[in-house]
Amino acid sequence: MEFETVIGLEIHAQLATESRIFCSCSTEFGCPPNQNTCPVCLGLPGSLPVLNQKVIEYAVKLGLATNCSIRSDSQFARKNYFYPDLPKAYQISQYERPICEHGHLEISTGEGQKQIGITRIHLEEDAGKLLHQENSDSSSVDLNRAGIPLVEIVSEPELSSSEEAKSYMEKMHAILTALGICSGDMEKGHMRCDANVSIRPKGQKEFGTRTEIKNLNSFRFVKQAIDYEIERHREEILDGRELVQETRLWDSERKLTFSMRSKEEAEEYRYFPDPDLPVVELDTAWVDGLRESLPELPDARKLRYREKLGLSEYDAEVLSLSGEASEFFEEVLEAGGDPKQACNWILGDMTRMMNEKDLSLRKLGIKPGMIAELISLIQEGTISGKMAKNLLPDLQNSDQSVKELVEAKGLVQVSDEQELLKMIDGLIQEHAAQVEEYRGGKTKVLGFFVGQLMKQTQGKANPGVANKLIKSRLDG
Ligand SMILES: [Zn+2]
Repeated sequence: MEFETVIGLEIHAQLATESRIFCSCSTEFGCPPNQNTCPVCLGLPGSLPVLNQKVIEYAVKLGLATNCSIRSDSQFARKNYFYPDLPKAYQISQYERPICEHGHLEISTGEGQKQIGITRIHLEEDAGKLLHQENSDSSSVDLNRAGIPLVEIVSEPELSSSEEAKSYMEKMHAILTALGICSGDMEKGHMRCDANVSIRPKGQKEFGTRTEIKNLNSFRFVKQAIDYEIERHREEILDGRELVQETRLWDSERKLTFSMRSKEEAEEYRYFPDPDLPVVELDTAWVDGLRESLPELPDARKLRYREKLGLSEYDAEVLSLSGEASEFFEEVLEAGGDPKQACNWILGDMTRMMNEKDLSLRKLGIKPGMIAELISLIQEGTISGKMAKNLLPDLQNSDQSVKELVEAKGLVQVSDEQELLKMIDGLIQEHAAQVEEYRGGKTKVLGFFVGQLMKQTQGKANPGVANKLIKSRLDG
C-alpha cells in the first residue's frame, strides 16, 4: 500500500523583548533561579497583568512578514491546567481571537516552490522551569522563565515530508531573525517546534490518526523525528495495529520517539477570555507604519542575490536563509570582494571549518575584509586558490593583514614567465622520454610536467601560467 504523509508544525518562538509579556521583569537568560520575579510572574493572588506593547509590535511584524491578516480585536484567554511550573494554574494565551491569521509562506522543495498556509499566530506567556535535583526526591521551581513572551505559529497540515517540514522551519527561523524579533538560538530553546504527523493511503481524503512530537529544538531533530514517526505509523498500520492519538517525545540519543501522554483536546483546557486583560484594539495607521518599517526579508534577499549579484538558485537560497551568513557575505562585498567568490568561501571552506570546530561564522574570528583580500590576491595571481585554502586557518584571530601573512609564509606565487620557462626547459631536457610520449599523442603527460614544476617550486608556480607555458614548449 502506498501512503502519503501529512505534517503540521506548531513553532514556538521567544520574542526578544527586554521585559516580559505582562510585567516589567527582565528576560535575561541564565540568572540565578527566581532572581527576576515579581508578584505578576510569581502568580500571586491579586496581582494584575499589564500588556507589553513591544510584544504586540513584534507579533504584528511577524504576521505582516508571513502574509497574515492582522486582527484589530485580538483577545487573551486563560488556558487552564495544573502543573507545578504554573503557579496561577492557567497560562495566559490566545484562543478564539489570535492576533494574526490566514497567512502563508513559500518554501523550496525538490519540485520547486511550495506555498504553506499559516493558520494562526497567537501570543502566550511561557511557564516556569522545573529543576530536578540529583540524589534528591524533590524538584525546585524556577520562575525566571514565567511570563517570557512567546508566539506560537500554527501551520496548516500542508507539509508532506520531513524535508518540507525542515525547510518550513528554516524559513520561519530566517524570517524571525531577519525581523530582529527573536534570537533564533535553538540551543537555548528560543525557537522550538511540535510536529503533528499522520499518514494515510494515497488518495484518501480523511486524515489518519496523528501523533504530536513535542519540543524539537533543531532542524536536524525535526527531520529525524518525523522520519522515525512516519516509519512507525507505517509499521503499525501494516501490522494491523491501531495507532493511538498521543503526544510523544524525541530521544535524540537513541533516535526514537516514545509516548509521553495521551493527547488532550482543547475543551479540556476550559479556555475563556481573560477578564484581567482588555481586548487589544489596533490602530490601522500604527499597523501600516510597522508594515513600512519591515526590513528586507529572506525571499527578497534571495531574489536580489539571484538577479543583482548573479548567484545560483541554490547559493542564493542557502545564503539568504542565514542572517549571519548573508550579513557576513555583504560585508565581504563592501570590502570589495567578488560576490561569487565570496559566496564560495562562505558556503565552502568557511562552513567546513565551522562544522569542524563547532563554531558560528563570526566566532571563527576571520574578518569579512580578510576574505575580500584573499579573493583579490587570487584574482591578481599573487597566490593560488590552493595556497589561499591552506592559509585560511592562519587568518583566525589574526591581527595581520592577509598580505602580511602571505609574505611571512613566503607564499607568493611564481607567475614570472621567464623564471618559469627556465625551469620548464630544464625539465624537458631531463625527461626526454616523456616529451616523446607527449609528442606521440599521449597528451596526458602534460600533467606529469605540471607536477614536476610544482614540486620544484614547492607548489608556488601559478598553475594557469605553468600549464600554458609547458603546453607551448611541448607543442613547439
Ligand atoms: Zn515579573
